Amino acid sequence: MTIDPALVLAPIFLTTELLSMALCMAFASLRRSGLPGVWQWLVANCAVVIYLPLLGLRGMVPDSISIVLANGVQALSLAMYYAGCACFLGRPPRWRLLLGGAILQVLGVTYWRYVDNSLPMRVMAISIYAALVCLATAWLMVSHYRGHRRSVHYRLLTGLSCLLAVTQVVRAIYFYHLNPVPTSIMLASGWNIILLCLGAAIMPALSMSAVLILHESLQTQAEDAANRDFMTGALSRKHLFATGQQLILQAAATRRPLVLLLIDLDHFKNINDTFGHAAGDEVLCAFAGMVRGHLRSHDALGRLGGEEFAVLLPDTALDAAGQVAERLRLHAQQNPVSSRFGECRYSISIGVAAWQGGESFDQLCRRADQALYYAKNTGRNRVEVSLAGATTAAIAGHI
Ligand code: GH3
Ligand code: MG
Ligand code: MG
Repeated sequence: MTIDPALVLAPIFLTTELLSMALCMAFASLRRSGLPGVWQWLVANCAVVIYLPLLGLRGMVPDSISIVLANGVQALSLAMYYAGCACFLGRPPRWRLLLGGAILQVLGVTYWRYVDNSLPMRVMAISIYAALVCLATAWLMVSHYRGHRRSVHYRLLTGLSCLLAVTQVVRAIYFYHLNPVPTSIMLASGWNIILLCLGAAIMPALSMSAVLILHESLQTQAEDAANRDFMTGALSRKHLFATGQQLILQAAATRRPLVLLLIDLDHFKNINDTFGHAAGDEVLCAFAGMVRGHLRSHDALGRLGGEEFAVLLPDTALDAAGQVAERLRLHAQQNPVSSRFGECRYSISIGVAAWQGGESFDQLCRRADQALYYAKNTGRNRVEVSLAGATTAAIAGHI
């Protein structure tokens, strides 16, 4: 049975057209998010909405429109998609390469239409450009994605890009072997139809992954706004307490140690009075950055308020936690912050407490706070540890 290729193509094009229109609306609704890449992805889908009807007008309008212009707009759509990914990841869009490749594709299509009329060679030119852009997109995602979590959406986008690149290569090879001139039977073959469907799915599939990635990014931003201190990036007091309670449950279940450090910047009021509040802010940010640099990925830093911070060290014995605290103290003492308002010297006092079975997070905080209070009262710029049974004991001597 022979199927008229137009009967196969019409529903594929119509479905893709409708999907692309829906995706245009999705990207348009995300414009206000201010996330990079949205505009480029929107333009990429608008280009699909434009080029599909042009392709469908084949035979009704000059080939310069239904072949050359339509495929040129398709190449632009792919270029804009890649540019969207690059902008989203904070990478340069490589316009020269993208547009140079698109121009080469258009020149090839024009040549193999008007100079040496060859459908297989036209398909080759179009498929090779699409395959290269898909591969470049996959490579970009693999090498530059720095999301909080290597999310399933990111894997989806990378996997789809690879899959679509492969289908484009297969389509190029398939058409290259159509000999000598493709007949309508060949064009309506199962293989060609599958390859056409996959080709038509490129932009909607990639765009859907992009929408999911944008949504995840917005979700992360919202979580950060709710759970983090805006200025220093440390966890908010509320979120630190929730994290502490969760880590206590974990420590109880695994019987692994958990240590809390309460850190307070010494005489911080003097820094504000001497250099100004803005300089004080810079010191707080530099301090939080310094502490983060000393922590592992599963440790937690929170800002309890003002110039008081807390660090949760899961899976850490008291001795090791004391050494971490001492390293932080020394680092703060030895590395003044070069603020815009002058060099700000500062020091910190730290109270250390290890979680004891059955203890609540509030009780743990209270013991760490007593140790901190002791550190303040015995001269500041010190690490004090709360030992089981005793209140506090100076440990500066034996770290
Ligand atoms: P101590 O060694 O006893 O901790 O003395 P201190 O001066 O650090 O403590 P005190 O509680 O007297 O003062 C804390 C100061 O921290 C006062 C407050 O203005 C300042 N502060 C609190 N939050 C911020 C902030 O976000 N930015 C700046 N620049 N200063 C802050
Ligand atoms: Mg203080
Ligand atoms: Mg304080």
